[in-house]
This record gives sequence, structure tokens and C-alpha cells, in this order.
Amino acid sequence: MIIDFHTHFYPEKVAEKAMAHCQGLLQVYSDGTRTGLLDSMGDANVDLSVGLALVNNPENSASVNRWAAQQNHGPICMAGSFHPAESDPAATIRTIANCGMRGVKVHPEYQQFSFEDKTLYPCWEECSSQELFLITHAGFDIMYHPPWHTSPRSLAQFHKNFPKLTLVLAHLGSMTFWDEVEKELAGLPVFFDLAFVTPEYISREQLVRIIRRHGAERILFGTDAPWCSQKKHVEWIDSLPLGGNEKAAIFYKNAAGLLKLEN
Ligand SMILES: [Zn+2]
Repeated sequence: MIIDFHTHFYPEKVAEKAMAHCQGLLQVYSDGTRTGLLDSMGDANVDLSVGLALVNNPENSASVNRWAAQQNHGPICMAGSFHPAESDPAATIRTIANCGMRGVKVHPEYQQFSFEDKTLYPCWEECSSQELFLITHAGFDIMYHPPWHTSPRSLAQFHKNFPKLTLVLAHLGSMTFWDEVEKELAGLPVFFDLAFVTPEYISREQLVRIIRRHGAERILFGTDAPWCSQKKHVEWIDSLPLGGNEKAAIFYKNAAGLLKLEN
């Protein structure tokens, strides 16, 4: 059983544009549609993917979440999203929960906000009271430039401010800031996903060390498809010198818990 906790796909009408947007910077491994993701899952033996919606501007919040709710079926579980600049984000978060989605995705670079912004505190409180996990982009992103809106230290502080919030930090806690992740974040009761954490960005030794230091029970397999090959990423993570129980936790058990899957 394999669950990919970090994937993206787009409505047919915008998929082509979304794929073209990153041309030259990122390789793409599908056409960016739901069908493309399902094909990729078939190739990689991925049983279930979590599709992460993202509200790109405040006016689109309702339509993005309506689309996400429609896509939340079959082997794809969706996380909804809100925009920090929309008028009533807490209401959006309640709608996401009422639609049966299990989580919310935000992106501090794309959406230009900081977890230190106190006006957003009610959003994080709403996520925890609705028992939704919050998944956030963390660290370097090839599409943006420093100064970054997060750091391992600021994310550790965010967790301390909202200890009851189920927090998933994408890209192993903070993309490319691996030494600081080991120092500031590893071992805290937050989840890391493995999206885009490929051999081009991290050594096998450091990856295994961070997984062990953090605890495999809080690591989620994820890819960032279509920007990363699901098939290659399954093979890479499966090649790590980890035990069977650790791999089962990473590849599906931890995700099944967060998604509240039965059996
Ligand atoms: Zn992503």
C-alpha cells in the first residue's frame, strides 16, 4: 500500500497553463490533470494520492474549494485551501471541514504571508477546532526568491504557538535547510512530508538521519507530482536503509491516520 500525501492537479481548462508556468525551471511528469495523476499512480503503484488545492487569489477561494470538494473521491483525497487575504477565512475553513475534506493547504511564498502574522491566528485555531490538518510549503521554492517566509526556527515557533494544530511541513520540514531542520525541528510532534526531497537535493545519509531523528511515525511519503516522478520517488524512498515497520509507517500508515481512513 502506498499513499502519496503531496500531489497537485488542475482543472482541464487551466492545466496546460499551470504546466507552462514552470517551464524551464521544473520538469513535468504528467499533463497536470486528474487523469494524468491517475495514470502516474498506476505506473508507480500508488494506491491513493492527496491532492493539494491552493487558492491563488482571494476572489477564487469559493470556486477552488468547490472544485476540490468535487475531486474528493476515489483514489484521490483532497485538501482544501484558503487565502490569508480573503474576507472570512475561518468560514472557508469550516466549509472545507463540512465538505468532508481532512486538511487545508497554504503556501507562504505563493500567498505572501507569515505564520508570525497575528491577524491569521484565528485561522490556525479554526483548523484545530475543526480537526483539519494544516499542510504548508516550507523552505526553498524554485519559483520564488529569498527572503523566505518560513525558516525551521519560525516553523518550530509556530508549532509552539499552536501545539494542538496537526501540522504537516512539506519538503522534510524546510526544503534545502536540512542542517537547521535537524537542529530546530527534528523530534517535534509535527509531520514532515517527503515531497521533492530527491537525491539532487539531499544525501541519502542526511535523509536517513533526519527520518530517524524525527521518528518514522511522523514522516509521510509524498512526491509533489506532477513536478516529481511518483515512480522514481517510490523507488528512491524504498531504497533507503530503513526497517519494514518504518517503511510501512512512511508509505501509508501515518497518512491513513491523518486522513482518518477506515481499514
Ligand atoms: Zn507541492
